[in-house]
Amino acid sequence: MTADAETKMQFLYALRSKGVTDKRVLEAMEDVDRRAFVKGIFAERAYEDMPLPIACGQTISQPSIVGVMSQALDVQPRDKVLEIGTGSGYQAAILARLARRVYTVDRFPRLVADAQAVFDAQNIPNITAFTADGSHGLPDQAPFDRILLTAAAEDPPGPLLAQLRVGGIMVLPVGQSDAVQQLIRVTRLESGYDYAELRPVRFVPLLEGLGRD
Ligand code: SAH
Repeated sequence: MTADAETKMQFLYALRSKGVTDKRVLEAMEDVDRRAFVKGIFAERAYEDMPLPIACGQTISQPSIVGVMSQALDVQPRDKVLEIGTGSGYQAAILARLARRVYTVDRFPRLVADAQAVFDAQNIPNITAFTADGSHGLPDQAPFDRILLTAAAEDPPGPLLAQLRVGGIMVLPVGQSDAVQQLIRVTRLESGYDYAELRPVRFVPLLEGLGRD
């Protein structure tokens, strides 16, 4: 079942009122059915602007945060994008609308399998999902034009900085897991990196190794 027109309109209104103004991002969020990524009893709340629980004790991010992060990443149609923290797969599906190809990794095999099943069911062909510890990135597929982390690191992981193309952009939450974190944007320059703070956010921590469910 897809959302009715009025539900979608309210959803888009909520996104705009929270600062999501990029036309391509809003179109992507209008097209991708968030309900498909939320299981069971929470599915009926898929079009409310709130995070919701998914398997393995994780959460699907609040839609307005997905919008803000996608917008800050400034994804171009030819881009190759890496997302760390597949979770439900919703953010990856939005990125897949904006980019040429998306690689997404999660430390829980079950989340990757569930997300892959949704990508297949929704006919999204340009996402490749892996089970891996994303703090090492994906050296075989590097470099990336854009990198997005949806779990908070204390600092931007070195391997991810190294796998960002010159001119590329990485958006990630940084800070201690139990405190308010900052969403930051890192741009790779010819020599070095430029850092900008965007806003306070709250994400689950980036953990080492693979998860067991
Ligand atoms: N982007 C997701 C929400 C992610 S929640 C969505 O749209 O639904 C954060 C995810 O990061 C969790 O699924 C968690 O398992 C994952 N994660 C945490 N540490 C990780 C790591 N080192 N490597 C890969 N994934 C990690």
